[in-house]
Amino acid sequence: MRSEFDLIAKYFTKPTPNADLGVGDDAALIRVSAGNQLAISTDMSVVGTHFYADCPPADIGWKSLAVNVSDMAAMGAQPKWMTLAIALPEQNPEWLSAFAEGFFACAQEFGVELIGGDTTRGSLNIAVQIMGEVPTGKALLRSGALIGDDVWVSGFLGSAALGLAQLQHKIELPADVASICLSALHHPQPRLALGQALLGVANSCIDVSDGLAGDLGHILRASGVSAELDLLALPCIPFVSTALDLPMMQQFVLAGGDDYELCFTAPAEQSAHIQSISDSLGLPLTRIGHIASGTGLNVMYQNKTLSLKAEGYDHFG
Ligand code: ADP
Ligand code: MG
Repeated sequence: MRSEFDLIAKYFTKPTPNADLGVGDDAALIRVSAGNQLAISTDMSVVGTHFYADCPPADIGWKSLAVNVSDMAAMGAQPKWMTLAIALPEQNPEWLSAFAEGFFACAQEFGVELIGGDTTRGSLNIAVQIMGEVPTGKALLRSGALIGDDVWVSGFLGSAALGLAQLQHKIELPADVASICLSALHHPQPRLALGQALLGVANSCIDVSDGLAGDLGHILRASGVSAELDLLALPCIPFVSTALDLPMMQQFVLAGGDDYELCFTAPAEQSAHIQSISDSLGLPLTRIGHIASGTGLNVMYQNKTLSLKAEGYDHFG
């Protein structure tokens, strides 16, 4: 491989039918469909912070995009375009083709086109900027939760954090559990179809990237409300509820990051409709509590309020 330009042509140039102009010029050109707003978000993945250097490159590729798709899901937006700024320590063809394979597998699954980016030498760092469309005025915001709303969450909580604990030798999981949890950690499934199905149904929404307590806390602050949750209602894989003691369970389910599930609030009269969304998507949706007046998050366990220490992952906390 001779140059940066050969590398871009070989690994990062694919057809972009949804763009007027894709990779190759000084800027890409796109058009937003009538009646839609452009939703834009960026998430960076840094070696040593978000993944280990020996993580399989196809998983790094998948996840560095999946975390961005998850932000679109949380807004109810359909992702369409993205740019990729990548710093690479060396030109390693095997690593690059595996990375590109995972990256474009995710792009294809969720309908996103790579329309530009930047490639430079440096310690491994992957920044994706994702752009999508959402019907004007309809996006799911953190600030829309209303007193009386039910609080819901998709999928299972804590699996990815268990996978990370296994990698860090902080816990020893049975082999079948380890494989589920490592897959949750390395190959998250952004809940894109769910986010779009919640347009006009949910009052507020966020994706759970830093742990439920912290992320639901963002909804509560933005909406000026409080929430009450029942610890035993929180959905988790059976290992969490049977093999872990209460403090450990609390830690993984409330504060474990990287799940990329959606947490949303909706009026009680939407609950049958939400159940039908769950059935049609084949995705568990669990009602975990409700929104009340006041501030903060109260987690109940056997009729007592638990004290919450770890609120979620904070890079500078
Ligand atoms: P410029 O010097 O004008 O910023 P570059 O030489 O950085 O342009 O990039 C050349 C073209 O390749 C541009 O269209 C840019 O968007 C695209 N590009 C660079 N790196 C990537 C990448 N990692 N993925 C996709 N497109 C890329
Ligand atoms: Mg450039």
